[in-house]
Amino acid sequence: MADFDLAIIGGGINGAGLARDAAGRGIRVLLVEMNDLGSGTSSASSKMIHGGLRYLEHGAFRLVREALSEREVLLRMAPHLVRPMRFMLPPLPGLRSALLLRFGLFLYDILGARRLLPASRTADLTHHPAGQPLKREFRYGFEYSDCSVDDSRLVVLNAVDAAERGAVIQTRTRCTRAERRDEWELVLNDHGRRSVATARVLVNAAGPWIGGVADTIIRQPLARGVRLIKGSHIVVRRQFQNDFGYILEAPDRRVVFVLPFADDFSLIGTTDENFVGDLSAPTPTPQEIGYLCDVVNRYFRNVVTPDEVVRSFSGVRALYDDGSNKPEDVTRDYELVLDKSDGKAPLLTVYGGKITTYRRLAEAALARWDPTSGRRGAGPRSRRCRAGSSRPRRLNRKPTKRCGDGHFCPGSTPAGCCMPTGFAWTESLKTRAAWTIWDSSLRAT
Ligand SMILES: Cc1cc2nc3c(=O)[nH]c(=O)nc-3n(C[C@H](O)[C@H](O)[C@H](O)COP(=O)(O)OP(=O)(O)OC[C@H]3O[C@@H](n4cnc5c(N)ncnc54)[C@H](O)[C@@H]3O)c2cc1C
Repeated sequence: MADFDLAIIGGGINGAGLARDAAGRGIRVLLVEMNDLGSGTSSASSKMIHGGLRYLEHGAFRLVREALSEREVLLRMAPHLVRPMRFMLPPLPGLRSALLLRFGLFLYDILGARRLLPASRTADLTHHPAGQPLKREFRYGFEYSDCSVDDSRLVVLNAVDAAERGAVIQTRTRCTRAERRDEWELVLNDHGRRSVATARVLVNAAGPWIGGVADTIIRQPLARGVRLIKGSHIVVRRQFQNDFGYILEAPDRRVVFVLPFADDFSLIGTTDENFVGDLSAPTPTPQEIGYLCDVVNRYFRNVVTPDEVVRSFSGVRALYDDGSNKPEDVTRDYELVLDKSDGKAPLLTVYGGKITTYRRLAEAALARWDPTSGRRGAGPRSRRCRAGSSRPRRLNRKPTKRCGDGHFCPGSTPAGCCMPTGFAWTESLKTRAAWTIWDSSLRAT
C-alpha cells in the first residue's frame, strides 16, 4: 500500500489549502515545499481578498461571483488575518465613464453574497475623508468593500491546520523525481538527505514552477499551455492617514491599487508583464516602478518618486493560457487538469488560482478525483466535503500576535524574541513550520 493517498508538490496557498481540505476528509496527505511555506507567489500578492472588479469587463462572472462569496467565508474563518476594507474609486476623465463604473459596482454588489460587508455608494470627495489626499479635481468617487489579507500567514495557517488534521507537511524539501507507475514514487531531498515516499495521486501545485516540475521531475509535458505573468509592487511611506484602499485607473485602462500597509507604509501595485527569467528572484524593473509612481501621481496631491520607494517586490502568476494577447487580459480563473491514463497513477495539475479562491479550488480538485476510492469525489454540498475545507472551522489565531521584537509569533511569548516559543509550538506538530513563521515574519515586516 502507498505511504500516502495524496502527495502535493508546492506549499503555496493552493497546495496548503488542498492539503487542509483533503486531511479534513481523512485522506492521507503529504505536502512538500522546497523553500518556506508561501515563499513563492503566495507572499507576493496585492494582499486582497476580492472579487476582482476588473474581471467583470472580461465577462468572468463565474470567477467574480465565486471570489465575492469567498470574502465573507474567509472573514469568518480567519478574522485575525482577513479584514474588511473600504475602497475608493475616483473616476479619471477620459477613461471609463462614471456610469459604467457605477454599473460595475452595482453588479459587484448583487453578485457577492453580502451579509457582513456594506454595499457600494457614491461619495462626495469634497467632504469625505478619502478625498483629502486626492487632487482637488476629484470631486466625487465610488466607495465599495473588499478585504485585505495577510497572504503568507494564511498559507502557514492552512498548512498548520492540515498538520493538525494528520497531513505530513515537509518544508525545505524539494521533490527531485516522480516515477509514475500504478502509484507515484517520489524522491525527496531535504538539505541533502534523500528519502522516498509513495502516493496514489500526485498534485503539481508548484505555481510558476509547474512547467519545470512537469518537464524535469515528472517528465511529462504539461497538457495545456501556461502563461507566466509578472506583477510588481512598490512600498512607500504612508501616503494618507485614512484606512481606505484606493483603486486607480491607469491611462492604459489597467488598475493600480494603493493600500495601507504595515501601519506606516502604502503598498502600490501592480503591473502585468510577460515573464521569462529566473523564478527564484523576479524583481521589478525601473520601468515598472516609474509606471506605478506615474499612475499614483495622477491622483494624489503628494508626489511619489522612485527614490522614495523603500521596498519593491514581484510575483509571477502561472495562468492557464487562453490565447489572450495582453498579459492583463489572460484569465485569472483556475484550471484543474486531471490525467488518469489507463493503469497509471493519476496526476492533477493546478493552473492559476487566486489567494481568494483557494478553498474553492481545493473543493473542485477533490470533487474531480477522490484519492481514497479512486472514483469521482464528493461534491461541495456533501458531508465529506463539509469535513474538509467547507466546514467553517476557524484557523488558529495564535501565530499573529506581535512579540516584543515586533515579529509575529505563535501564542504568548516571553519578553524578547518569539523564536523559541515558535519552535516549541511547531515542533510539537512535527512540521518544522517554526522556520516558516519566522521567515514569514521577516518577509512581511
Ligand atoms: C502581483 C500579484 C498580485 C496578486 N494579488 C492577488 C490578490 O490581491 N488577491 C488574490 O486573491 N490573488 C492575488 N494574486 C494571485 C495569487 O497570489 C496566486 O494565484 C497564488 O498565490 C498562487 O499560489 P500557488 O500555491 O499556486 O503558487 P505559489 O505560491 O508560487 O506556490 C508554489 C510553491 O511550489 C514550490 N515548489 C516549486 N517546485 C517545487 C519542488 N520541486 N518541490 C517542492 N516544492 C516546490 C515553490 O517553492 C512555491 O512555494 C496575485 C498574484 C500576483 C503575481
